Amino acid sequence: MYRSHTCGELKLADAGKVVTLAGWAARIRTMGGMAFIDIRDRYGITQLAFNEGYDAGILEQASQIGREFVIQVTGKVAERESKNPQIPTGDVEVIVTEFKILNPAKTPPFLIENETDGGDDLRMQYRYLDLRREVVRANMVLRHKMAQEVRRYLSDSDFIEVETPVLIKSTPEGARDFVVPSRLNPGQFYALPQSPQTFKQLLMVSGFDRYFQIVKCFRDEDLRADRQPEFTQIDCEMSFVEREDILHVFEGLTRHLFQKVKGIDLPEVPMMSYADAMQFYGCDKPDLRFDMRFADLNDMAKGKGFGVFDNSEAVIGICAPGAASYTRKQLDELTDFVKRPQIGATGLIYCRVEADGTFKSSVDKFFDQNALSGWAAACGANPGDLILVLAGPLNKVRKQMNELRLEMGTRLGLRDPFNYKPLWVIDFPLLEQDEESGRWHAMHHPFTSPLPEDIHLMQSDPGAVRANAYDLVINGVEVGGGSIRIHNRSLQERMFELLGFTPEQARAQFGFLMDAFEYGAPPHGGIAFGFDRLCSLFGGSETIRDYIAFPKNNAGRDVMIDAPSALDQEQLDELSVSVKQR
Ligand code: ASP
Repeated sequence: MYRSHTCGELKLADAGKVVTLAGWAARIRTMGGMAFIDIRDRYGITQLAFNEGYDAGILEQASQIGREFVIQVTGKVAERESKNPQIPTGDVEVIVTEFKILNPAKTPPFLIENETDGGDDLRMQYRYLDLRREVVRANMVLRHKMAQEVRRYLSDSDFIEVETPVLIKSTPEGARDFVVPSRLNPGQFYALPQSPQTFKQLLMVSGFDRYFQIVKCFRDEDLRADRQPEFTQIDCEMSFVEREDILHVFEGLTRHLFQKVKGIDLPEVPMMSYADAMQFYGCDKPDLRFDMRFADLNDMAKGKGFGVFDNSEAVIGICAPGAASYTRKQLDELTDFVKRPQIGATGLIYCRVEADGTFKSSVDKFFDQNALSGWAAACGANPGDLILVLAGPLNKVRKQMNELRLEMGTRLGLRDPFNYKPLWVIDFPLLEQDEESGRWHAMHHPFTSPLPEDIHLMQSDPGAVRANAYDLVINGVEVGGGSIRIHNRSLQERMFELLGFTPEQARAQFGFLMDAFEYGAPPHGGIAFGFDRLCSLFGGSETIRDYIAFPKNNAGRDVMIDAPSALDQEQLDELSVSVKQR
């Protein structure tokens, strides 16, 4: 028997027991005729005392070990003189009488402590050591709990988990596919799924009624901070449902997770149309932890002789509560912020609402107190608040104001990561137009159904057609998205046509799905949650990497196993793949 207890469970009530523990030597301190070693395992840390008074040779043995040695000890549990209230085992220590080194260890390249001295790269290279740190492991435990609760809730709601294949054919969901050469079919390739979209729809045709899967998806996207080429979705599909049914079930799942994993009763999830989200927050995933809704100042701002406003398509203001006290320097910082190339505004106009209710703006020359009071009313600004105004082409100003709003939310401390404000965004446009080519793309994916009342616009005004699609947004993060699907062949064919597919291309790529629609496809719809993102949101972190056991770095590499890597010529030949010499 390697151990009688774990390193996380001994309490005062165990005093006097003889126990055996096994784990890693976390901290080693020697002092005079004593030595203390903290022994660590997944469950916690227990203090070991090596005391010459009990066994003359034991100190000598203890002195042979280094950090991260794997050790096994037997001894008596005793009440500690100086207790450590920070840890659950802090009342006791084990007075060691027997001691064994199970495996020595090299000195680790960084401290295996919550506060480590290891940089990102080093920690990723030795991720197995990084995962020994309690904070990192706790993230994995959270992820495990989440997965358990997802399965429990969905299974209790009659969903069945079905595995779909990983070696498939391309599904066009916007990103590039990862591909795998087929040795048995020279010159042909499998694609790794961007999502199991078509399979889950086929399962509905099969009559499975309610499907889910916690599933790896793969997207070969351009590198961006905190994107993973492989990531996990909670993928779901249901038959005989309308949007409201789906929102109900998955609001239920979200609520269940918050309740079980965090002990939080989530407020009811409000709904907002895409159009409103864009108008009032300038983005399709508004952070509702704070207000600062956009106010349209066009009517009030134009025609007063201020050229910047007069020549702009849109003038939009927000109210930053309590920020009238912002100094010149702070305002300059904000101006610099919006003028950064990533944001690209030409300038920032402000108006302070002073404590006495008067106004002080950067454009006092053009706007009198009366005019400024109109701004304040539109923005909902009170004495002590600061109004910030941007002007320019509508879509640009919305984007810029969105950035400024989020920045102000952060600066004013209104974005507490543990204050959760969920939102359904609905009625997305079905299609987006590529500015350069003029081609239409599916905003969600090509299987998304238009709203029935908009179908008649598909030919005449494709850009105006709304999709029966929805996103779940929490704190400005898109955690899930889905739609009611097209389930008849002719509508699906029209959709592909709109997207620029010839009938032959559509048949070659999606014939199997459209054929299936002719064999009794039920009305159906579904959703997928980004599981890594959901975990990071629950953990209060912005980095999904912290919630993935073995993540890739920002260049898409696994620096621990050193992947991707080159193949031998022999292997390449076998796969009929030739590689361009670089
Ligand atoms: N397959 C979609 C996605 O990956 C989700 C869905 O429509 O259910 O975003």
